[in-house]
Amino acid sequence: MADNRLDTQIEKLTQAIKLTQKLRASVTKVFTDLSDGFQAPKGDEKALLNKLQKSLTAVNDNLGDLEKLAPNIHSTTNIPPLLLNSVGLLGLDPATDKSGITTQLHHTHKWTNKVHKLGDYTAQFLGTNQLKRTNQGPAGQAKRLRRPEPTIHRIPENINIQQLVASVDRAYADMSVSLIRPMGNSTVLQITLAKTLKAVIVLRGLLIEYVSIKAYSEDFLTDDGRPDIWSKSKYQVFNKVTDLVTAGTIHFYHPQLPDASLKSFLIWLNNYKTLFSAPCSKCGKYLQGFLPPIWRDTRSSQPLHDGCRQ
Ligand SMILES: [Zn+2]
Repeated sequence: MADNRLDTQIEKLTQAIKLTQKLRASVTKVFTDLSDGFQAPKGDEKALLNKLQKSLTAVNDNLGDLEKLAPNIHSTTNIPPLLLNSVGLLGLDPATDKSGITTQLHHTHKWTNKVHKLGDYTAQFLGTNQLKRTNQGPAGQAKRLRRPEPTIHRIPENINIQQLVASVDRAYADMSVSLIRPMGNSTVLQITLAKTLKAVIVLRGLLIEYVSIKAYSEDFLTDDGRPDIWSKSKYQVFNKVTDLVTAGTIHFYHPQLPDASLKSFLIWLNNYKTLFSAPCSKCGKYLQGFLPPIWRDTRSSQPLHDGCRQ
């Protein structure tokens, strides 16, 4: 008799677990579809709404099924002790509780993984760019490899930065670049790209020292109207773009050709005008994790999601 009751309880519990898994899958589907975007013909909003409604109905049905089953399952205190057995004791193990070693191991594992990943990126990036900012090495080699002194920190006499900026400004109708010198020698470039974004670039000589990107609707001003280039955009997408573009400046660093490197950077930045209108060149989707393709490949200029650029 008791065995029969136990069997029924186990059966119901298994069923409840299956229903919970089903509910979980349908909820995950709703959120994945919302974050990655629905696949539907352009302009067909009704099809999108129908798809969303279908997913939400599935969630509702699954929840209903689970709720129907719930009253038939007794709370754990009513289940015969045999069912709990040693499973219930797992969470009460005093040894793991006191030392906290599991949590520490988990953190260490995550941290090591992260260090490995960042190390890989750095090695890959430095390898492709052959970034050599110092001339340290064997004395003989340093003599043999003597290069012309980098001129990127000061503007060479034969380069007119105003002409350079004006040539980029003229070349692209949807990109306006203006130059200001708020503190005398340092140069600040103000860029407006189509109706997509505004950017501020601080130069030391011709070296890009700081980049900040905000939405087209935002200004680089404080609340009381004073210039402010340090504040962040209130939109996460533009803060992410700022981070990636700042990383991109290293790719365009060339100590012997400072004007060409600044010009290529500005031309590359121009590709961000399609930030919200171009799909990812790898996965073909517009959104990934609620974000558009926020990276532009430094060689092909193709749009890519942050997660698709590896
Ligand atoms: Zn993608």
